[in-house]
Amino acid sequence: MPLENFNNEAIILAGGSGVRMGREKQYLPLAGRPMIERTVEAFVSSGLFSGVILALAPENLKKHGPAWEKAGVRTAPAGATRMESLRSAFRLVSPGAGLVAVHDGARPLVAPALIEACLLAAASAGAAVPAVPLKDTVKAVSADGKFFESTPPRASLMAVQTPQCYRRRVLADLLAAAAEKDYSDESQVLEQLGIKAAVVPSDYRNIKVTTPEDILIAEAFMKETKAVTSRSRAPLARAGFGYDIHRLVEGRPLVLGGVKIDHPKGLLGHSDGDVVLHAICDALLGAISAGEIGVYFPPTDLTIMGISSSAIAEKTLEVLASRKARIINVDATIVAEEPKLKPHYEAIRDSVARILRLEKDEVSVKAKSREGLGEVGHGEAIMCFAAASVLK
Ligand code: MG
Repeated sequence: MPLENFNNEAIILAGGSGVRMGREKQYLPLAGRPMIERTVEAFVSSGLFSGVILALAPENLKKHGPAWEKAGVRTAPAGATRMESLRSAFRLVSPGAGLVAVHDGARPLVAPALIEACLLAAASAGAAVPAVPLKDTVKAVSADGKFFESTPPRASLMAVQTPQCYRRRVLADLLAAAAEKDYSDESQVLEQLGIKAAVVPSDYRNIKVTTPEDILIAEAFMKETKAVTSRSRAPLARAGFGYDIHRLVEGRPLVLGGVKIDHPKGLLGHSDGDVVLHAICDALLGAISAGEIGVYFPPTDLTIMGISSSAIAEKTLEVLASRKARIINVDATIVAEEPKLKPHYEAIRDSVARILRLEKDEVSVKAKSREGLGEVGHGEAIMCFAAASVLK
C-alpha cells in the first residue's frame, strides 16, 4: 500500500536526563541550533507525517512547550522512563493514524530516505527497525561486570537505531504488553508478542548524540551532508555556445554533422574537419563549463590525425556523463556559400541525433550563405555556430 494512504504520526522522545552529557542534552546547540529543533525539523520537513508529537521533560515542556504548540508540534510530558514517555506521547496519536514512527530526540541526523524506508517496511511487516552491522565484537559479562562470559557471533548481531516504525495497532498492543517499567528499546516487546520487526539497513551517520564528543562527530557529519545536498540540488537547464571554421580545399571529403556530402572540395583539419560536430561539441562542453574540444583533442596530438569527429563527439558524451549532465537539445547554423545545404538538412539531423543519442526533434540544423562576403563568401571556408542546452 502506498505511504500516502496512511495517516502517519511521529513521536519524538526528548525527555532524557542527559546524565552522560553532564547537562540536559536536548537543548544543547548543534551547529548553532538546539539539537531537538533539528530532530523535529527532520520529521516535519520530510512531508511524511500528518502530525509530530514531542515528549519533553517537565522543565522544558514549561519553557518551550507553548512555542512548539504554536509551530504545530503537539507536546506531551515525558515520564521518568523511555516507556513512560512513549505512553504519554502515544495518548495524543490520533486513532485514525496508520503508522507511527518513534524516534530519539538525540538523533538529529536522521535522513528523510531512512524515515521513508522504515515507514514502508512497517506498512508491510507491521513493525520495522533501522539497524547497522556491529563494528565491534560484543561480549557478555558476568553480573558483577568483572569477567567476560561469552561471545555471541558478531554476524548475528546488529546495533538498532530509530525511527522505529509501527502500524498504530501494533504499537498499541506493544504498549499494552510491556510488563517492565522500562526498556532501552521498546521494539524488544514485539518479541514477546511474536511479531517479527523488519530490519531496515541504516547508516552509521544516524548517531545518537549521547556524549560530548558525539556533538563534534554530529557537526562534522552535518557539514558534509550540507556540502552533498548543495551538490545534489534539482538539475538546472544550462546553455552553451560553440563556433568553428575550417578551410575548404581540393582533395578532401566534405563531412558535415557526420554526413559525407558530394562536393569537389572538403574541409582541412587534423580530424575530418567536421565543423558542425566541432561547434556542437564545443557548445555542449561550454554548457557544463568543461572547456572545449581542444582540451581533450589537442591539435598537437598526432594520434588524432584523420580521426572521425564522431570520436570527438563520443568523448564529449563521456565528459557530459561524468558531470551527470544530460543533453536537452542542440541547434547548429552552418555558414557556407557552396554547396547548398538545404537538401542535406534531414540527413545531417539524423546523423547528429544518432551520434549524440538524441531524438531527431532534439537536433536542429540550418544553413546560411555569407552573401559572397569574406572568406566564407568566397568559398574558402565553411563555418558553423551551435547552441546547446543540457540538464545538470
Ligand atoms: Mg574544428
